[in-house]
Amino acid sequence: MKIRVIVSGAGGKMGREVVRAVCGAEDMELAGAADPQHAGGDAGILAGLGELGVPVASSVKEALTKADADCVVDFTTPAAAFGNVMEALEAGKRVVFGTTGLGESELSEIDRVARAKDLGVIHAPNFAIGAVLMMRFAAEAARFMEHVEIIELHHDQKKDAPSGTAIKTAEMIWEARGEKKLEIPGEMEVISGSRGGEHRGIRIHSVRLPGLVAHQEVILGHVGQTLTIRHDSLDRSSFMPGVLLAIRKVREVTGLVYGLERLLFDA
Ligand code: NAP
Repeated sequence: MKIRVIVSGAGGKMGREVVRAVCGAEDMELAGAADPQHAGGDAGILAGLGELGVPVASSVKEALTKADADCVVDFTTPAAAFGNVMEALEAGKRVVFGTTGLGESELSEIDRVARAKDLGVIHAPNFAIGAVLMMRFAAEAARFMEHVEIIELHHDQKKDAPSGTAIKTAEMIWEARGEKKLEIPGEMEVISGSRGGEHRGIRIHSVRLPGLVAHQEVILGHVGQTLTIRHDSLDRSSFMPGVLLAIRKVREVTGLVYGLERLLFDA
């Protein structure tokens, strides 16, 4: 039996890539698609695959009434994703979502509802294996090199800042070594925001430029030396092996699993 997938945000940059990946996976089938601006179109044509006979619904709720599915995959916007995930859970469907920008309270609520319904949800702020390794190496290095700053760089249409990957990296560093907020005595911001934002005591700097996809540098400092750990997603196909893995694994989990590393490294 193939895994039947509804793609939410099917007309977006990531959604189109997910449609192509699901259609290319032998054990999966595109059951439906949702995207308000592209409602009425064909998901295959949007993804450049030719007509698939899978119409794009105007909402996840509508897509769920039109097609039977095992799983909903959401790559939309921070404003839309929470409602989409809740609609899917209410309909008894498992969810994989990569949309970033949701707050801690929304993620907790998703976990609570998924557990109450005995369903699994997998969310990763970054589905690229190299990014997961970059975060893991950074957390390990930060145990030995106290000074850390994160620079994340993305395309100029990204809505949320800082990126979910940067937030997750700061959290992994914090988990690895505890809170170590490093103050510079007498430091003064001549222009507000110059030193970036701060999460778990770590400075995060966000760069937005056309031509970029998704990139991050973690720069660590110690006496007389620096160590830079960098990952570059050069193409959105970099996220697809992780997304397909999550679609396969979401049947085996209950509640919210946050981070691709939980699927790769946890026993
Ligand atoms: P995008 O090109 O703007 O695509 C988002 C799509 O979702 C748009 O077509 C948008 O339509 C549609 N949409 C908006 N509201 C919707 C709703 N209620 N139901 C269904 N579809 C809706 O953005 P993107 O580059 O694909 O990125 C999408 C999200 O994925 C972002 O949060 C981004 O940060 C995240 N992302 C995550 C990863 C990861 O590995 N986790 C990787 C890359 C990106 P409109 O244009 O009409 O608004």
